[in-house]
Amino acid sequence: MTTPSSRQIRIPEWNFSCTGCGDCCRRWHVAVSSSEKVRLQQLSWNDNDVIPPEITTTINTYEYLAHAPEGHCIYLEPETNQCKIHAKFGHAAKPIGCRVYPYNIATTFKDQYSVVGRFDCPAIRQNHGKPIAAAMPAIRRHIRDMGLNGGFDSFVLDGLEESHVKRIVRAFYDCLLSRNDLTADTKMIGAVLAVERLEKLGATFLCDLDDLEIFPSFFQRVALDCAHIKIRRLGLFERWRFLNLFISFMRRDEDIVGKGFASRCQRTAAIWQILFTTGNLIELGSEHPDADVDSMAVFDLPIENASEVDWSLYVELVKLRLQAFQFFGPANYDLSFYVGLSSLIFSFPLVIAAAKWSAIARDPQRCRVTPDDIDYAVGVIDHNLGRSALLGTAFFTTMIRQMTEVEVYARLVRRLIDAGGHRLPITTTT
Ligand code: SF4
Repeated sequence: MTTPSSRQIRIPEWNFSCTGCGDCCRRWHVAVSSSEKVRLQQLSWNDNDVIPPEITTTINTYEYLAHAPEGHCIYLEPETNQCKIHAKFGHAAKPIGCRVYPYNIATTFKDQYSVVGRFDCPAIRQNHGKPIAAAMPAIRRHIRDMGLNGGFDSFVLDGLEESHVKRIVRAFYDCLLSRNDLTADTKMIGAVLAVERLEKLGATFLCDLDDLEIFPSFFQRVALDCAHIKIRRLGLFERWRFLNLFISFMRRDEDIVGKGFASRCQRTAAIWQILFTTGNLIELGSEHPDADVDSMAVFDLPIENASEVDWSLYVELVKLRLQAFQFFGPANYDLSFYVGLSSLIFSFPLVIAAAKWSAIARDPQRCRVTPDDIDYAVGVIDHNLGRSALLGTAFFTTMIRQMTEVEVYARLVRRLIDAGGHRLPITTTT
């Protein structure tokens, strides 16, 4: 494959410079191909370089770099957070998964690509360092080395043309997500309502219309109509369905030590405890808070400081995914445009729930959400957004679609924020 030109690569404005925290080498397992494994096995180490004979581990039929019993990648020097491969053989000798991280690179329209930073990297969440666009030469090489091809086909485009997609995305960005006068929950509930209406109107709605005239008034109407959505009680089945999805976003199968029968039983028991009583997310992955939490408290305890909570980190994540077209097609389980948009918007209740879980783990009697809770929540949810084999199945994508029907979504968001207390700008009028 030839190296793509810079003009073929779309990189929304965001910054990244690695701080060397080592989180990625501790928390995530890096997938390696069989040819990469052979290449790594052929690296010549000295006697004082301690590299175990088994350099990979198999999880759900995929091969990953093995981790030491202490939990970090076998190639990480834990005291200095340095990669031994990088230190001895240079950056280019590392597996492609390590070289590309924390960028998410995907194919989009014909012969085009886009890049966003993964929010499971703390430096990305902090928007720290140099513009990602400054890494263009390396990104072009990554695209060539990854052998990316494909992109949006007519199925994922939902009958829309490239220009339609760009206009709709721009309108969501300018007329809804960037508005300073709307709360985050109004923006996201409005986004669900807008998806429903645009999908019904179809592509013909976009023909011959002037965006500057139509979209501001369309989204103004949507924002106003959010206040009139009928909010009923969140049913038990809806809670159970949401918790199921939440748990699936929290699972770090590759992060759990032990893959035998006993470990599986232990994990299943942990999932059932979270679903039905009081459970500990640490059983699903090491980055989660280590505390028993009553899962119903996530629905029943209101966020006490709801009006002060700043969700802008989350809104930035959504804006970046939109700008990069990384919410449908290859970047999101090959979902079609509108389904992908719904699935991106569904990450909001998941982020609220994760932030609340983190707050309740600190104090089981009350829920005061801090910036650290939001930082944790955005990182853990983005980790699996479009990147989990489990969540890519039809069962989960259908469930997400059902949870993003506007009335279901609105009552879920309302319930999570104020526990049905009707204290927010979005309140029922009936
Ligand atoms: S998690 Fe991000 S900042 Fe930390 S070492 Fe990895 S790439 Fe660097």
